[in-house]
Amino acid sequence: MSCVFCRIVAGELPSERVFESERVLAFRDIRPAAPVHVLVVPKAHVESLFELVDRELAGELLVGAAEVARSQGLERGFRLIANIRHDGGQEVGHLHLHVVGGRRLGPMLAR
Ligand code: AMP
Repeated sequence: MSCVFCRIVAGELPSERVFESERVLAFRDIRPAAPVHVLVVPKAHVESLFELVDRELAGELLVGAAEVARSQGLERGFRLIANIRHDGGQEVGHLHLHVVGGRRLGPMLAR
């Protein structure tokens, strides 16, 4: 298995897990961009949001992100980011949502 996030899900690579549900896992980003930076991923391999067709899984990912935000004390707010495919800056080819917060974030990059 070569996908790094599949290996994290399988427990073959270490990670700091912060949330888990039946089909979703959340763990801390290894290079945090803010005091809280957690990745929410489907346990089964989905390449990116572009390939996502399972509506129940989509809901579980989103609710998982909200649960992460609550458990991490992000009452003041946070940002949810999905980088998608090459032009979206996706580096790891396994769908993930970034939950980023714990400080006031700057304006969103849009160009
Ligand atoms: P993206 O550019 O959206 O594909 O972001 C991939 C993210 O995965 C980056 O923020 C990396 O720091 C993070 N990352 C890569 N490898 C690991 C790992 N082994 N454990 C935790 N986070 C990782």
